[in-house]
Amino acid sequence: MTDNHANPFSRRRFLKLSALGVAAVPLGNLLLHSSARAEAPKVDEKDPMAQQLGYVPDATKADTQKFPKRAGADGAKQFCKNCQLYTGAADAEWGPCAIFPGKVVSANGWCNSWVPKAG
Ligand code: SF4
Repeated sequence: MTDNHANPFSRRRFLKLSALGVAAVPLGNLLLHSSARAEAPKVDEKDPMAQQLGYVPDATKADTQKFPKRAGADGAKQFCKNCQLYTGAADAEWGPCAIFPGKVVSANGWCNSWVPKAG
């Protein structure tokens, strides 16, 4: 007796939950695609523009003969993370740079376009 009354409720509830589940799938896909978009490709140091600017993901490997700007004690303080053109989060290992749109550079990288971060 109680089963007959409980079943329509359960069925209705099941259908509601199913509808929510169906709605959740596209939302999940959207979130997945959003996070995939956030993972921009890393700048390849062999990229012609990167080579021209002497970009290296490890600033300590910068060619100071070719790019004397990073030579000496002051030069050794230059990193993408303290460059004005870098917009990565303070604790991120990689972040966007205005010179390389759609890609990310290493926070510990460097290139000859380095400019000190303002204030
Ligand atoms: Fe790094 Fe700045 Fe050069 Fe961009 S412009 S690659 S942030 S040093």
